[in-house]
Amino acid sequence: MSKRDLQIITCKAAVCWGNGEPVKVEEIQVEPPKSSEVRVKILYASVCHTDLLYTKGFPIPLFPRVLGHEGVGVIESVGEEVTDLKEGDLVIPTYIGECYECENCMSEKTNLCLKYPVPLSGLMPDETSRMSVRGQKLYHAFTCSTWSEYMVVDANYVVKLDPTISLPHASFLSCGFSTGFGAAWKDAKVESGSTVAVLGLGAVGLGAIQGARVQGAAKIIGIDINEKKKTKGTAFGMTDFINPNDYDKSIFELIKELTGGLGVDYCFECTGVPPLINEALQATKMCLLGKIS
Ligand SMILES: [Zn+2]
Ligand SMILES: [Zn+2]
Repeated sequence: MSKRDLQIITCKAAVCWGNGEPVKVEEIQVEPPKSSEVRVKILYASVCHTDLLYTKGFPIPLFPRVLGHEGVGVIESVGEEVTDLKEGDLVIPTYIGECYECENCMSEKTNLCLKYPVPLSGLMPDETSRMSVRGQKLYHAFTCSTWSEYMVVDANYVVKLDPTISLPHASFLSCGFSTGFGAAWKDAKVESGSTVAVLGLGAVGLGAIQGARVQGAAKIIGIDINEKKKTKGTAFGMTDFINPNDYDKSIFELIKELTGGLGVDYCFECTGVPPLINEALQATKMCLLGKIS
């Protein structure tokens, strides 16, 4: 298809119309990509807790909004200035770009790119939307909206995917899994032989477990109140599992019991439940004296 022939696409998408309202499947219009953008046909999308927060107006109440920020898709069309991506490429969206030039991209401590940061406006970088429903503007999720059959995203916010990878699994690489994996690998730089605890075995927690395993951690304790997570955690490299509901003790005490009373070298809190931050701190060697008062 020549770039001149690109048409508006009508397709289905999951739309949230207001704070706390249920998500509805709507027929929406998706415009062609502008010069630095690509239009993507979504093949797989996953659910992240942040999508649920969007429906409650977090971090900014923007409605109506097409949800979803994790997914895998195939490029349907590209804008005139896009040279490194083409129709048919498999991609995952990211919500932070990488310019390889700014202070943060050049830093070894962070990759929170200053040129392509996390957009909170629910719009494309030019402050407009590519999606509408019955003529009304629709907000995007972060940089994109993966709970739509088609989406437009700035080309700086997609990563090309190895086509041999399992596509349903790759969807989790767009957010949750990479967050946990990177925390153990790039941020904490877990050392070989260390002891690690991971609170919450969702996509972030399973990523942290595998990151710790790849770094050579000797003991990786997974904690979750969902018993089914025992099998999943083990598959990713967990060596010990604690279901706090099985005990009448604090989580940090249970972790200390598994580490000779010392606590772990690293503890990753992956639930976002505020009181568990204290439990995570108390489970480390830093708190040898026990409870933080
Ligand atoms: Zn940058
Ligand atoms: Zn997410």
